Amino acid sequence: MTKYLHRAIADGILTITLDNPDAAVNTVSPTWIDEIVAAFEEAKADDAVTGIIIASAKPGFMAGADLRFILDNPMDALTAFAFGGRATEMHRLIETCGKPVVAAMTGFALGGGYELALACTRRLLVDDPKAVVGLPEVNFGLLPGSGGTQRLPRLIGLQKAAEVLLSGASYAPADALKLGLIDEVWPKEEVLEAARVWLATGPDPVRPWDRKGFAFPESDGLLKQATANWFTGQTGKLRAKYGDNFPAPISILTCLFEGMQVPFDKGLLIERRHFARLMADPVARNIIRTTFVNKGLADKGARRPAGTPKATVAKVAVLGAGMMGAGIAYSAAKVGIEVVLLDTTFTAAERGKAYSRKLVAKQVDRGTLMPDKAAALLGRITPTTDYADLADVDLVVEAVFEDTAIKADVIAKAQPMIGKTVLFASNTSTLPISQLAESFVRPGDFIGLHFFSPVDRMALVEVIMGRKTKPETLARALDFVGQLRKTPIVVNDSRGFYTSRVFQTFIHEGMELLRDGVAPALIENAARQAGMPVGPLAVIDETTIELPLQIVRQTEQEDSAFRRPNSTEVMEKMVDVLGRIGRKSGGGFYEYQDHGGKRLWRKLGEHFPVAGKQPPVKEVVNRLLYIQALEAARCLDEGVLAHPADGDLGSVYGWSFPSWTGGTLSLIETVGVSRFVAECDRLAQRYGERFKPTNQLRKMAAAGGGFDWG
Ligand code: NAD
Repeated sequence: MTKYLHRAIADGILTITLDNPDAAVNTVSPTWIDEIVAAFEEAKADDAVTGIIIASAKPGFMAGADLRFILDNPMDALTAFAFGGRATEMHRLIETCGKPVVAAMTGFALGGGYELALACTRRLLVDDPKAVVGLPEVNFGLLPGSGGTQRLPRLIGLQKAAEVLLSGASYAPADALKLGLIDEVWPKEEVLEAARVWLATGPDPVRPWDRKGFAFPESDGLLKQATANWFTGQTGKLRAKYGDNFPAPISILTCLFEGMQVPFDKGLLIERRHFARLMADPVARNIIRTTFVNKGLADKGARRPAGTPKATVAKVAVLGAGMMGAGIAYSAAKVGIEVVLLDTTFTAAERGKAYSRKLVAKQVDRGTLMPDKAAALLGRITPTTDYADLADVDLVVEAVFEDTAIKADVIAKAQPMIGKTVLFASNTSTLPISQLAESFVRPGDFIGLHFFSPVDRMALVEVIMGRKTKPETLARALDFVGQLRKTPIVVNDSRGFYTSRVFQTFIHEGMELLRDGVAPALIENAARQAGMPVGPLAVIDETTIELPLQIVRQTEQEDSAFRRPNSTEVMEKMVDVLGRIGRKSGGGFYEYQDHGGKRLWRKLGEHFPVAGKQPPVKEVVNRLLYIQALEAARCLDEGVLAHPADGDLGSVYGWSFPSWTGGTLSLIETVGVSRFVAECDRLAQRYGERFKPTNQLRKMAAAGGGFDWG
């Protein structure tokens, strides 16, 4: 009896049908490998079998490895080497069993699923745009570890294979055929018959690389000069794109480079070594944990309190048709929600709708949106100035100016017009939700929905619980975020919530570095080298230096325990003395050129002298990353974050904290909690109390533990 596959034999053709009883897709698992190996060993020994078809009983052919399994089973390199060997040997057995084998792919084949197809003599795919094939491993910080990096270049050529392997892209049937990833495309009901017909022609089962004299087109035994040059260019490009943060792309390139100069089985061994190294590297696990597993769980409502029936918003009111309101209106209309878009004047409300017009026009031009769909989307947005239009909405999202009095005013105007159970959400980025909720007659139904700019492109929504927000309100708000197909994190009310609070530490540390005499170019480059998309000085210039200064001054007024950071001196000098507010005022830490270029302000050194001795890059990187990680740990301690996964997701999707770290909190585990604590103690001694580790981190370090990922 087999669990993961059925076998049937007719007219000498063995059909192996993959059918995982435990999940909706077929995945690679140790038992599945055992069963495939047993099936092929039997078939190899059975003279009555003249050909083999691998098919699937599922809508998809096969997905790759189970990412949850990789996450739950950390491996050192030796264990990973052995682990990778089993699938590699299985694929080698398939292609050397002496019988022609056809992959009859009735649906998508990705990762290990497509590697299985690569080990077959021929690949047939159904004519269905959802039936994509590809090797997405690079997206998880890995490489295809059971022959993918060796078979593909031998099959379609080095450069095309590099494109497939390094992009991690999925290819629909027509593109897959053009690239040579598959051999034939068939209608679903004909694909099995087509496999039988091909087998009936008596094809040669020996793969090209197992024939004598096989050589890559790009090689004549030795590496051709042009190919060697191409590799050099690729290495440079990958280094520029990933720095030292992502080991997988360089490993893939190395497997191609070395693999093409050795016999096939040697190539497999090289690939296996690199695979083992990547599996043991924390980067792959970080990416898998945050970008796939925890994001998937958040999208499925991991933080949704149970017991409230699922709610669907049919109509939403968006108050304020500015940058954020316009984006929220578009995102809602896009998923079929009716939108009332209200502003103080009809012109302003119309301008908000015009944003959607611009977005859909671009998509229609590109051919990614049909004109009738575009018209329907726009038809769902009703610009207005009249609160009576809020009569039948299910939810109100407020996105007016960041001003408590104005927000209280629109809440008071909306309140009598809406139903008794309608939720009220505020998109404030800084004002305490609990305080705003007091302006609403039912504070339990009031919640923060903090969208990010540009709303149509940013996946994250920070959902903020006020002191009185009811669990049912949270459940309904999360249902709305799910309807928008965005990823929620749930945080408790606090100054700056989670995302703005932690991000502020990054920009303040940038200015602290400047004040300490670190060269501005070193600050900016170290941030980018760490994987932040832009340096702290460039970011501040975009949002203006006034903004963090205003936050500091306001916090000082409201919180007597608050101590102004040293960076305030930098901000005051820039804004009050030098009048350099940022890009908006024509210049800040940078100077801006007419043709759109920019460079660090040449006179910055006159006002913030550069020290004679500069710190190593690593020191600057650590200051910029660790200060954020520490603040995230404080948010966890204080209950602003209820779950470390939300801290990671918020950082990666909210402000592009480097994904190789897994996020602010995963970074601490990547460094190792005790090492992180020791390093923070050193930084605190040298640069100030802000680097002092939390008691919770000290306890975790002493116990040798990590966060409770639950
Ligand atoms: P914005 O200035 O672009 O738009 C605000 C809009 O509100 C304007 O169209 C204005 O006419 C309208 N408005 C003002 N008073 C009003 C009233 N009484 N009634 C109806 N409409 C009124 O501002 P924005 O950037 O869209 O920000 C809106 C809110 O979203 C703020 O609370 C802000 O803190 C928050 N937010 C902004 C960002 C961002 O990146 N800009 C990100 C997250 C959250």
